[in-house]
Amino acid sequence: MLILDGKAVAKARREALKQKIAKLPSKPGLAVVLVGEDKASQVYVGGKIKACHELGIESYEVLLPANVTEAELKKQIDRLNEDKNVHGMIVQLPLPKGINSQKAIGWVSPHKDADCLTMENLGALWAGQPRTMPCTPSGVMAILEHYKIDVSGLNAVVVGRSNIVGKPMAHLLSSANATVTICHSKTKKLREHLKRADIAVIAAGQPEFLGGEDFAKDSVVIDVGIHRTAIAGGKDRLCGDVRFSELNVRAATPVPGGVGPMTITMLMENTVRLYELSQQH
Ligand code: NDP
Repeated sequence: MLILDGKAVAKARREALKQKIAKLPSKPGLAVVLVGEDKASQVYVGGKIKACHELGIESYEVLLPANVTEAELKKQIDRLNEDKNVHGMIVQLPLPKGINSQKAIGWVSPHKDADCLTMENLGALWAGQPRTMPCTPSGVMAILEHYKIDVSGLNAVVVGRSNIVGKPMAHLLSSANATVTICHSKTKKLREHLKRADIAVIAAGQPEFLGGEDFAKDSVVIDVGIHRTAIAGGKDRLCGDVRFSELNVRAATPVPGGVGPMTITMLMENTVRLYELSQQH
């Protein structure tokens, strides 16, 4: 079985991006807005800031308390929308209860939306004229491209239909000429769909709920899920939605080291793209 090494793909793309950034006339800037003290979000934000430093992107971290009002959050986002040094922006999700995520995403200027989450940018993506690419799904496509896995004409099954992963993933696969089935929590006989898949992308957020018996032998399995589960001795380990050790398929991504490293890489690529677009105005 071919192991699709997202860490290696991310490294290669980051190296190329670093060289590109070094030739730009000024530094691209990414603002990260973190509300509250969610531990996982702090780790993700830390990873994004670190990647900025490594690549030569200026980072602007805005930390707000969990009880921040929507009005104050909007004020901070408006300020970043106006700041000429900020080319890309993300509001780290999930936001604490009491703040409407859809509203907060909508306050980000589509010209600075580094996650491709605003209505305008999702519409542009669906219309085939993307401003930026959704980070995790485009990271999956980059892994497939790196390993020369051409999805054209293949049966693809996406498990999950969230706005961040499942839906744009299905769209990117369809744009690459795969025939796509979207499965979700109400899908009957999930295994029957998966068994017919040449490529299966799993983004259900259910720790290790699928195993070797769920996939066809010659399929490609991409596991987007990421979970921290407790193990003996008070320690924990990372796992995906798939029991990787059971797989005996054509190719598969591990967790960790599969899709995860690609998401931040694509965020960095989006920031540079937004920087380039800003220079054209
Ligand atoms: P959501 O919870 O928003 O969506 C989960 C989707 O999976 C829903 O559409 C849901 O169906 C579907 N689903 C849930 N249970 C089942 C089931 N038993 N069978 C079939 N479908 C099911 O999650 P996200 O899309 O935000 O994230 C998915 C996973 O990917 C998570 O583990 C998350 O941590 C991970 N992730 C990883 C990233 C990375 O960089 N590697 C980045 C982003 C996410 P329904 O619509 O019917 O509720």
